[in-house]
Amino acid sequence: METPVPPAFGKEPDGNPRIFVANPIPFANRVLLFLGNDKMSLFDKFGRQISDLRISVTDRCNFRCVYCRSADPENYRDHDEILSWPELDRLAHIFLGLGIHKIRITGGEPLVRAGVEDYIARLHALGVEDLSMTTNGHLLAERCERLIEAGLRRINISLDSLDTDKFERITRTKSFDAVMHGIDVAQKSRLGPAKINAVLVRGLNDDEVEAFGEFSRERGVIMRFIEFMPLDADRTWTRKHVVPAAEVYERIHARWPLVQIPHERSETARKYRFADGAPGEIGLIAPVTQPFCGHCSRIRLTADGKLRTCLFSKDDHDLRGLLREGAADDDIVTYIRSIVDEKEEGHRINAPDFLPPTRTMVFIGG
Ligand code: SAM
Repeated sequence: METPVPPAFGKEPDGNPRIFVANPIPFANRVLLFLGNDKMSLFDKFGRQISDLRISVTDRCNFRCVYCRSADPENYRDHDEILSWPELDRLAHIFLGLGIHKIRITGGEPLVRAGVEDYIARLHALGVEDLSMTTNGHLLAERCERLIEAGLRRINISLDSLDTDKFERITRTKSFDAVMHGIDVAQKSRLGPAKINAVLVRGLNDDEVEAFGEFSRERGVIMRFIEFMPLDADRTWTRKHVVPAAEVYERIHARWPLVQIPHERSETARKYRFADGAPGEIGLIAPVTQPFCGHCSRIRLTADGKLRTCLFSKDDHDLRGLLREGAADDDIVTYIRSIVDEKEEGHRINAPDFLPPTRTMVFIGG
């Protein structure tokens, strides 16, 4: 008998996986567009409002995660190819004027770039409503307080194994204790409950689903399981390495029944609490088996100043060039609007002719 799947991981009546559908522009938004009152907002041609920007502040990282980077020495961009803090300030100001109100700082590893706390403080002063960071946690314990003082309000920490040896094989570092300490410090701080991101790769760490569930219950952290995407530098991704979110749901639900928590349309995770009232939360992010592009509200700025409208975009768009050629803010706004208008309908990982993007995760910023 087929295992029942939860509503978030359902199938269409014909038995095929549910496919996203981009929404037509909602009527109210069309009226606003018609009246020219959309100056404060960014919409793409499918009517999706873009309100969420991921800014990669560096392409450098102190980890070498096997599903992300290569073990080889990497060709980092020269420092002058990376956006300077004043350039990042100017772009943040422009994006806020376009209705971006959610900014996540990422990388590379954001905490390896000196000055990131000051940048967060300036974003906070600009009035960014929702300011968060994704980090590998290695440098977090010693920086947590300064990040909070700067205005950081949410944090995602990557943790792909609870077993020291395996963690060190995956990250190619000796950082397990430092990361666990970083998680403890964040969890006890105003950033708690911390979100812990685990990318599951079949045969590597998929045996730890239940252990992560237990970790969530014991520590009260929000555990996020992310499907492995074809964005790794070594190009080892195959479909058989993907651990479907529905499987993770079934395994945790069998041990500790889960209850779905409502989520916002544009949220990437389907969220669950434990039915027995234990602390913690489970989130499932299923870009491969249950794409959520139809409600995507995100764009990305790479460390070298390219704007990307999808993780899997074939092209990226050069904002650094415009900044350095002396373009006026209005010209940059017009350019950003034209790029966003052309945002891809979906990522096409499941299309027969799918080709992974030439830029891998490390050079995009997750
Ligand atoms: N250095 C920070 C960190 O480790 O969280 C931020 C950058 S990292 C690229 C951002 C997120 O992307 C991490 O949670 C990481 O696990 C995830 N990631 C990297 N490569 C991935 C892949 N091929 N598939 C899915 N997620 C990936």
